[in-house]
Amino acid sequence: FKIPKAINEPVKAYAPNSPEKEAVLVAYKKMWNEKIDVPLYIGKEEIRTGNTRNITPPHDHKHVVGTYHLAEKTHVEKAISNALESRTAWANMAWEQRAAIFLKAAELIAGPYRTRINAATMIGQSKNIHQAEIDASCELIDFLRFNVEFMTQIYADQPYSDSSVWNRLEYRPLEGFVYAITPFNFTAIAANLPASAAMMGNVVVWKPSDSQVFSAKIIIDIFKEAGLPDGVINVVFGDAIMVTDTVLASPDFAGLHYTGSTFVFKELWAKIGANIHNYKTYPRIVGETGGKDFILAHPSANVKQAVTGIVRGAFEFQGQKCSAASRVYIPQSLWPAVKEQLTTDVKSMKMGTPEDFNNFITAVIHEGSFDKLASYIDQAKKDADAEIIIGGNYDKSVGYFVEPTVILTTNPKYTTMETELFGPVLTIYVYEDAKWSETLELIDQTSEYALTGAIFSQDRYAIEEATVKLQNAAGNFYINDKCTGAVVGQQPFGGARASGTNDKAGSMQNLLRWVSPRTIKEIF
Ligand code: GLU
Repeated sequence: FKIPKAINEPVKAYAPNSPEKEAVLVAYKKMWNEKIDVPLYIGKEEIRTGNTRNITPPHDHKHVVGTYHLAEKTHVEKAISNALESRTAWANMAWEQRAAIFLKAAELIAGPYRTRINAATMIGQSKNIHQAEIDASCELIDFLRFNVEFMTQIYADQPYSDSSVWNRLEYRPLEGFVYAITPFNFTAIAANLPASAAMMGNVVVWKPSDSQVFSAKIIIDIFKEAGLPDGVINVVFGDAIMVTDTVLASPDFAGLHYTGSTFVFKELWAKIGANIHNYKTYPRIVGETGGKDFILAHPSANVKQAVTGIVRGAFEFQGQKCSAASRVYIPQSLWPAVKEQLTTDVKSMKMGTPEDFNNFITAVIHEGSFDKLASYIDQAKKDADAEIIIGGNYDKSVGYFVEPTVILTTNPKYTTMETELFGPVLTIYVYEDAKWSETLELIDQTSEYALTGAIFSQDRYAIEEATVKLQNAAGNFYINDKCTGAVVGQQPFGGARASGTNDKAGSMQNLLRWVSPRTIKEIF
């Protein structure tokens, strides 16, 4: 059994008058008025609890595009028991059959569902079309296809045997169920966290973000259409603490697949620790959390290349990526040229709603995020060691719009050099060229996080020095490229320190966390 080698899904351009642009606009307009009603998906049932919340686009928060139903504790318990009932059949299904379901799901996204899942991501998460396409279509398809390729490699990896002894490794799923908690910022991650555990034979209780319900519904529709048996992935929306406490109280809880904030991940870890005597097995804990990602320019950097990296790294999807560039270090000698280019590039970015394809920047995800960003911007306006050099305006009357903002600071430990803001706010520190080596130390020691980082340099020695000295500062390190946009199969993604367990999403390592292998020795 050999499947074709996975290749990355080509990114569509959505050029003016292209058929894909017309199609996604039609889907967007239709969904805008569809008033979708999203139930819980538990076993074979779609449960409408009647306790609903509205789904509103961040760029037009008074417009209701749909509703979703919230679980009570009994629904979460039901999701767990349905998962466990489905476990034996799913775990014993030939892995090729499981793989086929997810390969079919990839084809459904590549084809008939592409415009719909992109449009849902544009409406529900306020992504512009290009950000929606690389996420909800390409990255999601890539996760599914590459994970299947990794599955083939994992199952083929067997120990040494000779003619009289047959040693086998049977890659069993975890004994129990996996709990997936997913973020709003990537439709692909939302799908991958439950899917990757399920691919390895696990059953899952999945709690999507309240800000990603629209595209989450389409993901589950696609998985079901592709043949995913009922009860393998059960979807519950609702109060995060209630859902989590109910899940973690189950003795069958066997693994957590999480992407979200560092704070919540630490809380989860502590709760799992507090419950440890109740579990049948040590739960696997896999988490990708925050970042305070840096871009460093060396005096030899190509200014245009560096500024493009900074602008894209900081402001694509309004900076709402764990990987987003949010602290930047520029040498004094390059600062005048960088400042000029940066000002031109940032000012040329249009802000508005995603159905106008000229808009690069749209709204941030919700009011909580908007208010947090506004307060840091206001503070920077007052602080003596900070100056807003670009942007700094915000308005939430219609949507949660925050202008791309650049803060210049004279204090390398200024609060926005250290604190993750998760929005379109970038802070720059200008260092003396002669203090290059000290700046490397500063970068390493400024943040508790270690997710992504980038260096722009034409000097091989400087690249080597930074690569060594910053070896613990970023799980994904980019040389002459922005610090975002890891491509599945090319740059496995994840970081350490406060950024997570570094189990590299989109890699064989990640899939191996979802198996508990049995060794079998047989003498002939
Ligand atoms: N994988 C994404 C990137 O490389 C970031 C994922 C995240 O924000 O969680 O930009």
